[in-house]
Amino acid sequence: MRQNIVAGNWKMNNTLDEGLKLTSEVVNMVQDELTNNNVQVILGCPFVHLTSVQKLTNGTKLALSAQNCHEEAKGAYTGEISATMLKSVPVQYVIIGHSERRQYFGESHDTLTKKTDTLLAHNLTPIFCCGESLDIREKGEHVAYVCNQLKDSLFHLSAEDFARLVIAYEPIWAIGTGVTASNEQAQEMHLAIRSFIADKYGKEVAEGTPILYGGSVKPDNAKALFACPDVDGGLVGGASLKSRDFVDIAK
Ligand code: PGA
Repeated sequence: MRQNIVAGNWKMNNTLDEGLKLTSEVVNMVQDELTNNNVQVILGCPFVHLTSVQKLTNGTKLALSAQNCHEEAKGAYTGEISATMLKSVPVQYVIIGHSERRQYFGESHDTLTKKTDTLLAHNLTPIFCCGESLDIREKGEHVAYVCNQLKDSLFHLSAEDFARLVIAYEPIWAIGTGVTASNEQAQEMHLAIRSFIADKYGKEVAEGTPILYGGSVKPDNAKALFACPDVDGGLVGGASLKSRDFVDIAK
C-alpha cells in the first residue's frame, strides 16, 4: 500500500516564534488525535525555522521538509542552501519545482533534473511539484503539459530512483485562490500521471508512487479529494498555517 501524505507548505510565512508555536500545536494534536498510522504528516518550513522545528518534531510522527535547495552539494553560491546542509539538520523531504519557484525564480526543467539527482544522492526525498496554468487547461492541454513536466525533469531516473519520489499535482489556478480542482478533475489528472509513470517504469513503480493534490485544500474539501483512488494526500499551503485546519485535513 502506498504512503498517504499530508504536507504543509508554509511558504514565506511565520516568524520563528510563530512557527514554533504552530509546530507545538500540530505536534500535540497529531499525537492525540491522528489514529491513522498510514499517513505521514510533514511540515514544510522556511530554512531558518528548520533546526528549531526539528527539535520539536524529533521523535514524533511528524517529518520535516524544506521548500527548496540548491542543485550543487556545496560551494560558492552566496545565500543558497545545499542538500548536504538539509541532511545535517536532519530534514527528510524537499519540495522542488513549486509553480511559484518556476514562475518567480526561473526554475527550469534542467535545474529540476539536477536538484532531483542531488537530493536523491543525499538520501532526501523530493516532493516534485507539477501543474498547469488556467490558460493551458482551457485549451484542453493540461494532461500533456503535466506529463511533459514529469518527462523533462524526471524520466532520466532509473526505476529504482523514480520509486523514491513523491509527486504533487498542483494546478496553478487552484493555488491560493480558494478555487479547488473538483474531485473529478483531480482524479483525472492523478490517474493520467500514474498511467504515464506506468508506461515508462511499469505498474509496480506507478502503483507505489504517492501523488499528492495541492491547491486550496481545506478541511471541508480534503476528505472527498483524498477519497479519489489516485489521490494519496495533499500539499497544503494556506490551511497549513492554522494548526486546527491542518490537523483536520490530515485526519
Ligand atoms: P494553497 O497552496 O493550499 O494555499 O492553495 C498550495 C501550495 O502552493 O502548495
